[in-house]
Amino acid sequence: MVRLALILTFFPALLVAQSRPADLVITNAIIYTADSAHPRAEALAVSGDRLIFVGSTAGATALAGPATKRIDAAGRPLYPGFIDAHAHLRNLSLILATLDLRGVPSYDSVVALVSAKAAHAEPGSWIRGRGWDQNLWGTAFPTNALLSRATPDNPVYLRRVDGHAALVNQAALRLAGITRSTPDPPGGRIVRDTNGEPTGLLIDQAFMLAERAIPPDDAAQMQAMTLPAIREANRYGLTGIHDAGIGPNELSAYEALAEAGRFNLRSYAMIYGGSDTSAFLAQQLALGPRLALYNGRLWLRAIKIEFDGAMGSRGAALLEPYTDDPGNVGLFRIPPAQVEQIAVRALQAGFQMCTHAIGDRANRVALDIYASALRQVPTANHRFRVEHAQLLTPQDIPRFAELGVIPSMQGSHQSGDMSWIGNRIGPERVQFAYVWRSLRNTGVIIPNGSDAPVESINPLVSFHAFITRQNAENEPAGGWFPAQRLTREEALLGMTQWPAYASFMENEVGSLSVGKFADFVILDQDIMTVPPERILATRVLRTVLGGQTVFEQQ
Ligand SMILES: [Zn+2]
Repeated sequence: MVRLALILTFFPALLVAQSRPADLVITNAIIYTADSAHPRAEALAVSGDRLIFVGSTAGATALAGPATKRIDAAGRPLYPGFIDAHAHLRNLSLILATLDLRGVPSYDSVVALVSAKAAHAEPGSWIRGRGWDQNLWGTAFPTNALLSRATPDNPVYLRRVDGHAALVNQAALRLAGITRSTPDPPGGRIVRDTNGEPTGLLIDQAFMLAERAIPPDDAAQMQAMTLPAIREANRYGLTGIHDAGIGPNELSAYEALAEAGRFNLRSYAMIYGGSDTSAFLAQQLALGPRLALYNGRLWLRAIKIEFDGAMGSRGAALLEPYTDDPGNVGLFRIPPAQVEQIAVRALQAGFQMCTHAIGDRANRVALDIYASALRQVPTANHRFRVEHAQLLTPQDIPRFAELGVIPSMQGSHQSGDMSWIGNRIGPERVQFAYVWRSLRNTGVIIPNGSDAPVESINPLVSFHAFITRQNAENEPAGGWFPAQRLTREEALLGMTQWPAYASFMENEVGSLSVGKFADFVILDQDIMTVPPERILATRVLRTVLGGQTVFEQQ
């Protein structure tokens, strides 16, 4: 009795009036609640899809009845369900359903994989792939010559790992109607050889010319393709995702799956606000924010804008030219005036803006646009976001806190880009890339994301990078610009509470607190205490969404 009293004092019990026994009780866990009022616990109880108790094993056990499912966690660590604050579910499903070119070490190997696929494809049908990265090949961007020779009968469309470029073969150029006389579309570039012929490389908006020639997946195909991507997310402990830009077809597919009870994620899905989707945007703004649809699976109150390109394909908008491409300052994919107009409409309709800005020029102009829109429609609780915020000038760093703008960043980009980004922007500017600590010191939160499938959907990759500034091989020793590291406590908040706040969902998810959704994950080792170099060896044992197990290690 004395011992029980001690435990109850040590883990202040949070309990709401409960007339019937809990549906699920988990005991004997090392619980990190991410709730600063009660940071640690050892047990929890669930009724329906909500937490009714977080505290001691004795306290949780007292809520169990004969029908209660009981799980003894055997001393394993348990955390709030991880939330990826920036990922692309559709692109992940595409990469799982088409050719996965991530990590392929040479262009020759890419061509060989495409040829092998073409050997079993209907002549004339499209071969799609995603994930190639010429930075791994130690070469310049490829041209289509080799690909076209190897695959003459099927159009081929291969998106770069960052999604900001595509390589297509001659058959695809033909079907897309791209010739030497095709002008560069606004916000895009058709790369040409010295004779003016398209090389097959299409940067940013230019790949839409080819994409429009590809027959779209029908609704049933899209739904079927989405399920493995959801399973992949659950396998890595994710219960939430901020889907960084969806169109009408994705929304229909997700709604159909959620309606059928098969969408096992809480998706904070951002509506694409580009010129290709203006009718969709207008429709969604007119409907207004729609929250917790389908039992808390779908939350619609954000707009995604792709403002500039990316560093890898030199499309990120810079204030000064690229160090390794002196004539090039990158590009805006949407004119700033149009972004501002959308920001004003977003504020009027009660929506949040999430603007992709990677280069220092894109970030500065995005902050200018937000400031102007907020002057026009003053809004206290706007929580506007900049997605990526990769390269900043020292004078722009404090502006996020001043304007109440959230930098939504990705640990995985720092660890993925560090080997080549210095060449792109030079030794001066590189000191102001991925400046997590500098931003934190101004008082902002930094929700962490994977940008999957640009990088792995495993949230621990970005968690590990946040605290080490190292890649998966734990290189470089001591970390890359280690002064910008965050603490483990901050890194845990980066995949729990901070994404919850950045999606206005902090009362529903993001911590293990009574009344919130019972979303949590049990791991095989404690990521808050294992040596950093062992973090990426962690395995997920169980992922629970709304009290239901959606992944269990066999
Ligand atoms: Zn993205």
